[in-house]
Amino acid sequence: MSHLPFKNYMEDAVEHMLNRLAPEYPEACMCDRCRTDMMMIALNNLPPRYVSTHKGDVLQRAMGMELQYEVEILTEVMRAIRIVSGQPHHGRNEEGL
Ligand SMILES: [Zn+2]
Repeated sequence: MSHLPFKNYMEDAVEHMLNRLAPEYPEACMCDRCRTDMMMIALNNLPPRYVSTHKGDVLQRAMGMELQYEVEILTEVMRAIRIVSGQPHHGRNEEGL
């Protein structure tokens, strides 16, 4: 049997939230490596939410989910930014606590 296409909505939501929060953490490194670490930490702490990517009803459903889970996503992304920016793991000179 086949199935319709779907994906984990949280991946987009976390990336979107990270882009939104990044300007508020000017001291945090936002290179590709650190951003990836932040996204993985946040995603590991958030339950996956799979949505169908079939047809045009995805956007509306995703927007509803964004409101529903916004606080959770915000909390986990903020936590991930603090964790990663507190771990100088690729040759940064200054270590913030
Ligand atoms: Zn970095």
